[in-house]
Amino acid sequence: MNLQWYNCSYCGLTIKQSNTPNQGKCSAQNSSHYWHRLGEAGDDNYECKDCGIVVQTQSKPQQGGCPKSVSHYWKKL
Ligand SMILES: [Zn+2]
Ligand SMILES: [Zn+2]
Repeated sequence: MNLQWYNCSYCGLTIKQSNTPNQGKCSAQNSSHYWHRLGEAGDDNYECKDCGIVVQTQSKPQQGGCPKSVSHYWKKL
């Protein structure tokens, strides 16, 4: 599987790897991270205007998982 971007909707931690990250311990919730898959890694830069996360994907990332809003609001950089 190709590299994918994931982010935790509680703490905003962003990770690029080929499968869902371990649950680990989330600093924001005193529980485990809650991962959302944002999209396949690529060459286009997208920034969420709400939470400030920047990822490099092949196409517009998924909207779910924004720690600051109902959904990410992606802007292509
Ligand atoms: Zn987290
Ligand atoms: Zn966001």
